[in-house]
Amino acid sequence: MYSNIWRNFIAAADKAANTVILAVGPVFIVLAVGLIGLATTVYFTVVFPSFYVWDEDYIWTKIYYYLGLIFSIYMVVCIFFHYYMAVRTKPGGVLNVGTEQSDSNDPTIQDLFLELEEYQEYPKTCKKCHLPKPERAHHCSVCRRCVLKFDHHCPWIANCVGHFNHRYFLLFMTYLVIGCFYFALVGWKPFLLSLGETGWDWSMPRPYVALSFLLAVAIGLALGGMCSWHYYLIITAQTTVEFYNNQYARRTARAKGEVYVNPYDLGPVVNLCQFFNVGRNYKYPIYTIFLPIPMSPPGNGKVWEKNPMSYANVQTEISEDTD
Ligand SMILES: [Zn+2]
Ligand SMILES: [Zn+2]
Repeated sequence: MYSNIWRNFIAAADKAANTVILAVGPVFIVLAVGLIGLATTVYFTVVFPSFYVWDEDYIWTKIYYYLGLIFSIYMVVCIFFHYYMAVRTKPGGVLNVGTEQSDSNDPTIQDLFLELEEYQEYPKTCKKCHLPKPERAHHCSVCRRCVLKFDHHCPWIANCVGHFNHRYFLLFMTYLVIGCFYFALVGWKPFLLSLGETGWDWSMPRPYVALSFLLAVAIGLALGGMCSWHYYLIITAQTTVEFYNNQYARRTARAKGEVYVNPYDLGPVVNLCQFFNVGRNYKYPIYTIFLPIPMSPPGNGKVWEKNPMSYANVQTEISEDTD
C-alpha cells in the first residue's frame, strides 16, 4: 500500500515538474537570447575594437579588420539563425491532435491508420498516448505527445529535439561553442582590464565585460562537452534515448555470445551525411552545412534505412514487443 502511495506521489511530482518546464519555456528563451545578446554587444563594443586595431598606415591591419568583422557577423548570424530555427521548427509529431503543440503537417488519425497499413513498420504502441509509434519515435512527457526521432526535451529552446529540428539544434550548439571559445581567446585582455580599477576607456561598464567573458568560458566548456557527445551520437546513429536502449541490447547480446548491431548505423560518414542531408545520395551539397538557411532532414522520420547486418536484432525486437 505504501509503495502505491509512493509511486503515485512520484508520478504526481513528475507531472508537476513537466508542467513547470512547459510553463517556464518562454522564460528560458528570453534568458538565452538576453545572455547571448549581452555577450554579442560586449563583443562589438569592447572586445572587437580592442583586438582588431585599425591603422591607416598599414594595409594589413585593414584587411585583418574586415576579415575579423565578416567572421564576427557570420558567427552571430549563424548562432541566432539556428537558435531561432531550433525553437520554431516543430520536431515532428505522430498525430495532429489539434493542440498548440501539433503541426498542421502532422497526420490525422485516419492518415495514421492508413500509414500503419502501408508501412507495417510501427511495431509499437505508445503506452501514454495509445497511438501507433513509428520506429525511433518516443513520448515526450513535457509536451505530452510522441515525437519523431525524439532525442530529448530541451528547456533552453522550449521544444523537443526531434527529427525536423535536430540539425538546427546541433548547429546552434556548434556555432555557440566556437563563438564562446573565440570570445575567450580574443577577449581575455579586456576581461583582465575590467577586473582592475584603472585604464577603462569603453562606454560598456566593466561588470558586463567580466560577466560576458566568464559566461563564454563556462558555457563554452559545458556546451562543448555536450556538443561533442551529440556528434558522437550522430556519428554512431543513435538518439540520446536509443543510446541507453542500445547499451542494454549490446549487453544482452553479449551475454548470449552474440554481437548487437544498431539497425540505423550505416557507417560514420553515411550517418553524418544522412543527419545533415548532404552529399551523394542526399538532397543538398556539403557546403550548405555552413550556410544559415532552412534545410529539411531526409525522409519523413517514420521509416528508416537499416543496416542489413542488423535484421536479426530487428526481428527479435519486434517479436519481444508484441509478446
Ligand atoms: Zn506517446
Ligand atoms: Zn518535448
